[in-house]
Amino acid sequence: MIKTDILIIGAGPVGLFTVFEAGLLKLKCHLIDSLPVPGGQCAEIYPKKPIYDIPGFPTILAGDLIENLMLQAEPFKPGFTLGEAAVSIEEQNDGGFVVTTTKGTQHAASVVIIAGGLGVFQPRKPPISNIGDFEDKGVEYIIKDPEFYRGKKCVIAGGGDSALDWSIFLAEKKIAKEVVLVHRSSSFRGHLDSVQKVIDLAERGVIKLVTEAEVIGLNGFSHLENVTISHQRDGELIENTDHFIPLFGLKPTLGPMGDWGLEIEKNAIKVDTLDYSTNIPGIYAVGDVNTYTNKLKLILCGFHEGTIAVQSAFARIHPDKKNILKYTTVNGVKGF
Ligand SMILES: Cc1cc2nc3c(=O)[nH]c(=O)nc-3n(C[C@H](O)[C@H](O)[C@H](O)COP(=O)(O)OP(=O)(O)OC[C@H]3O[C@@H](n4cnc5c(N)ncnc54)[C@H](O)[C@@H]3O)c2cc1C
Repeated sequence: MIKTDILIIGAGPVGLFTVFEAGLLKLKCHLIDSLPVPGGQCAEIYPKKPIYDIPGFPTILAGDLIENLMLQAEPFKPGFTLGEAAVSIEEQNDGGFVVTTTKGTQHAASVVIIAGGLGVFQPRKPPISNIGDFEDKGVEYIIKDPEFYRGKKCVIAGGGDSALDWSIFLAEKKIAKEVVLVHRSSSFRGHLDSVQKVIDLAERGVIKLVTEAEVIGLNGFSHLENVTISHQRDGELIENTDHFIPLFGLKPTLGPMGDWGLEIEKNAIKVDTLDYSTNIPGIYAVGDVNTYTNKLKLILCGFHEGTIAVQSAFARIHPDKKNILKYTTVNGVKGF
């Protein structure tokens, strides 16, 4: 049994910064994440994209932000249970909780802070019967590192920002040898500038654009070799490729946390903005996973929520102690 003051479910940017704020109050944290590495959406979906609205950083790559947050949390020696999803929670007689993961790891904590973002990541997969056979053998649902595709031919599918932006990036920066963008319709859901850019690149022959078409088959032996495309006008086409990257978005699902007795609204956990507490005393929800009037799903808002939640957690864990706000400029960062 892993024991801690605060158990944080979700090691995304908000969970990581919450460790720092809890550490300043001398509260020890342990984080659980279903992904094998910390960083949440920043690490999983867009590590190489610049973010422009983190205070004090005119621009910072999402992956670098996570590295910095890990460094900032380091003095407080957080524990990590990675690659395991939190599946069940049991309230204890002392008011604390025991949270168990998919692999049966148990965690006991006085307070639970849910920083679960979109929930457990589940990419929307195209309905191709043998797609599972090619996962990590030429089929990826998320582009983690564009360098992985250097000199390779890539067939990207989708009509949203992700599909458009990555097609532009891989082709324009000459990372991929060849980029084919396949989309079901002739109109796109992404930003107009990105749509226009893709059309321009296609006209210049930098991207091959195949619209009104769908990838319906994957073929190869130990690795993907080609895809079958069904085109509304031209019928079935075979496109040789090294990679097929369907970017149809992630299915936001709270998963088992949706059955923990928490008040849920539109797939998010309702909180009281006084301290970001949920309807269950001792459980808080911060970052993208929560909802309240005027909620903004932004990293900086999540940082604020985590900061306020740990103040309330302190009062719950130490009802006899008074917490006085101390500036880090005055007190420094005294780790454990
Ligand atoms: C392409 C893109 C661009 C963006 N650009 C910006 C931007 O410029 N500025 C900005 O402020 N925001 C941006 N965002 C939004 C920003 O990424 C999110 O607001 C932020 O990631 C939320 O952080 P979080 O820690 O709350 O959740 P997440 O980053 O979603 O992390 C949550 C973590 O919880 C884990 N988890 C969930 N459920 C469980 C469970 N049951 N057990 C274990 N682990 C669990 C997940 O695996 C995940 O790692 C962008 C988002 C995307 C997709």
